Formats: sequence, structure tokens, C-alpha cells
Amino acid sequence: MVRTDPNLLQVTDLTVQFKVKRGLFGRDSYTVKAVNGVDFSIGAGETFGLVGESGSGKSTIGKALLRLVDVTTGNILLNGQPVQDLKGRMLDFRRDLQVVFQDPYSSLNPSMLVGDIVGEPLTIHYGLKGAERDAKVAGLLEKVGLASDQIERFPSEFSGGQRQRIAIARALALEPKLIVCDEPVSALDVSTQSQVISLLEELQENLGLAYLFIAHDLAVVRHISHRIGVMYLGQLMETGPAERVYEAPAHPYTKMLLTAVPVADPVIQKQRKAERRKLPVTELPSPTNLPTGCPFNTRCAHAMDICRSDAPPRREVAGGGWAACHLTDF
Ligand code: SF4
Repeated sequence: MVRTDPNLLQVTDLTVQFKVKRGLFGRDSYTVKAVNGVDFSIGAGETFGLVGESGSGKSTIGKALLRLVDVTTGNILLNGQPVQDLKGRMLDFRRDLQVVFQDPYSSLNPSMLVGDIVGEPLTIHYGLKGAERDAKVAGLLEKVGLASDQIERFPSEFSGGQRQRIAIARALALEPKLIVCDEPVSALDVSTQSQVISLLEELQENLGLAYLFIAHDLAVVRHISHRIGVMYLGQLMETGPAERVYEAPAHPYTKMLLTAVPVADPVIQKQRKAERRKLPVTELPSPTNLPTGCPFNTRCAHAMDICRSDAPPRREVAGGGWAACHLTDF
């Protein structure tokens, strides 16, 4: 069930840059342009999948939402309120926005019992302790498919998939509206991945949660997302409904990403392999020295002169969404 309130999260013209010092005593510095003018929104109960290669800026966007990095310019509004300015609203913000990180082996404190890991937010925010808190934690563990009597165990006694369920139970404790899922299944084997994704979908259906689902694998993002944004060198190249982006990608970069996704149909698989062989073999440009014009012009098989000088416009794509490209015949 997708809810229609489009205003839960609004990200407008977001830019995140880092100054990195180098040289003797750090006298020289250079700027890493991690995110460059990104816009998207997430409605209540909706999943927006953010996909791209390593270094595309997708995780930096998640960190900016969580206030783990500073926003350079632009706005992030959660429930219509700026995330950069939380005067007197920090506890509300922490309740509404939670996170599940990639690695369930390092994101859970190994010296804490499961009951304390999942129950800690309940103590901090609501002062719950003892039997009252244990009862709440037991209910949360059941919600994520774990036995309620496991609160006296340590994370090391669980498998990777079970640990990620513990991390999800902790994220659910404060009944958030939005969860940033930062590569939440990348460290898991394929069958465990699909179990965790099914759990996230079931929780969304039952609790009306929204997700920002960050991943490098377009196949994983497709199955959980209602809409997808494809990132390259800190910019959105294409967005649209998940099925449209997957079945009829418009942007050359999205098409390139899809050539790496295995498909069951051997004819399509052969076509994709042939397309992959046509691609120029070039390195990802450095985010300290971005190409002018279209950021993808150094790797694009369709690059024209205008692509090296002018930033491409966002063109609407039949079936929904847009692609930032000078080509007119998607
Ligand atoms: Fe390729 Fe030009 Fe489109 Fe960029 S704008 S994706 S370089 S055709």
C-alpha cells in the first residue's frame, strides 16, 4: 500500500562538498564534490531506491539526511521542517527518521545484549526500563521474525540475516516514519537478501513506513522500490517508476548499469553482453575534478560535442520520470 502524502521528505538542490587537506601541515586543500544539485521527494509509505556505483554520492545523501555530514547548499525538509535546523525538535527528528546500515557485523555493539540494543532508544526517549521495556523489545523481535526470548543473547550468537533483523527491530522501536536503509542487504547471501527485503516490504505494508533504500545493485532496488533515482558522480541521471526505469531505461548510464544485471532470458542476456562490449573502457572521473557538461560524457558511447560543454536538460520520459541527457529519442 503506497500512501499519497508526497511531502514526508523533500530534498531540493542538495549539494554536499568536503574540503580535504593535504601537503605539509595541511596547507593545501582540495574540494570533493560528493553531491551536486540533487532533488527528490519521498511520500509516506513509499520506497525511493537510490542506485549508483561506489562514489556516486548516494550514501552521502543518506548521511546528509541523518545529519552525519553537513549540507553545503540546498534544503532537506522532513514533515515540512528543515533537517539542518532542528532547534528544540531533535528528539522528534530522531523518532521520525531511523537508519539501518550495511554491515550487521559492525553496526551492532558486540558487548551489548540484544535486549539492550533494541531497547536503548526506548529508554532514551521514553524512560522505559525493566519488565516494561523487555515486553516492548519482545514484541519488536517478533515483528522482525525473531523469537521473543532472545533478549539475553549477544549479537555474535546470531547469523548475518538475524543480526540485520535485530538492527531493523532497533530502528522500529521509536515508530519512525522514514528509515534510511543504506545498502542493508549487500553483506548478505542472496537467499538471506530476499528474506530481509520481504521483511522490509511486510513492515511497510503493516506500519506505513517509508524507505530511502540505497544500493549499488539495480536488481535489488527494483524489487523493493516504487520509484528509483539513478546517481552518477553526485548527480541524478534519471528517475521514474521502478518498473519503467528497469524495463525501459532512458539514460545511457542507466542502460550501462543494467547490462551488469543478470536476467533469466538468454536472448536478453546475450543482447546485454553485446551492449556491454560496446562501452568505452574508461575510469570513473574523480569527484575533485568533474567533467564539464554531462558528467557521464567520458564514458558514454553516445557523447556529442554539446555533452562536453553544456549540462544536459531533464527530459520527461514516457511512462514517468525524467532523464538528464542531450539525446532526444529515448
Ligand atoms: Fe551521453 Fe551526452 Fe546523454 Fe551525457 S548528455 S548521457 S554524454 S548522450
